Amino acid sequence: MKRAIRYVLNHVPRRHIQRVVHLVTPVLGLAYAGRGVVCPICGGRYRRFLPYGYVTSRANALCPRCLALERHRLMWLYLVRETDFFTAHPRVLHVAPERCFIRRFEQLLGDLYVTADLESPLAKVKMDIQHIPFPEESFDVIFCNHILEHVDDDRLALREMYRVMRPGGWGILLSPVNYNREITYEDPSITDEAGRERAFGQKDHVRDYGRDYPDRLAEAGFTVESIDYAATLPPEEVTRYALRHEIIYLVRKPQ
Ligand SMILES: [Zn+2]
Repeated sequence: MKRAIRYVLNHVPRRHIQRVVHLVTPVLGLAYAGRGVVCPICGGRYRRFLPYGYVTSRANALCPRCLALERHRLMWLYLVRETDFFTAHPRVLHVAPERCFIRRFEQLLGDLYVTADLESPLAKVKMDIQHIPFPEESFDVIFCNHILEHVDDDRLALREMYRVMRPGGWGILLSPVNYNREITYEDPSITDEAGRERAFGQKDHVRDYGRDYPDRLAEAGFTVESIDYAATLPPEEVTRYALRHEIIYLVRKPQ
């Protein structure tokens, strides 16, 4: 099973996977029937979650029903418990929206919820995050997860997100961070897939963020909080929701 999932992730374009994966995983979910883990987003209960991963696959990661991974479940719990996201009717820009969130946020917010992507068929607006086609201060909240490591000029993208956020607004901007690196490694002269995979760990990444990732977010003007949210939860919840100790990077635009 692990090898099959890894093969598909590595050989089928992501936009095709996004179209059909929700048809396939419920069937896989039957094989995982049980009560060991709970998805806080869709309420699904399973023996454990499906394995997932591009390079090395990890067990107990992917919710068969809503396709949430550990970081999505963590972010959901954070939004529910630590923010006013579900009660404040925010105007939201969700870049490269994750399928597990789209329907729920859409139901909650309707037209206040704008999804955007360069190519995903799931998004309402087609856009390059380096040139966001919205005026200043258009959004209260911005989500942009696992995108910046693919973007040529991430500093420009961050300045754009800062521009369209209202003062006092906030966002969650997650990227893979290599905690063994002090300083982010990037080299725009490496443009081929094999070279990028060797240098940055994945064929469509253009950099490998280091521990200075929050500094780069701050360069755009944001204040940044790095939150190990799972560490604040009881261990039985970490197990029940199958969470990992992933850092939530919370940005705010000063008033
Ligand atoms: Zn789920």
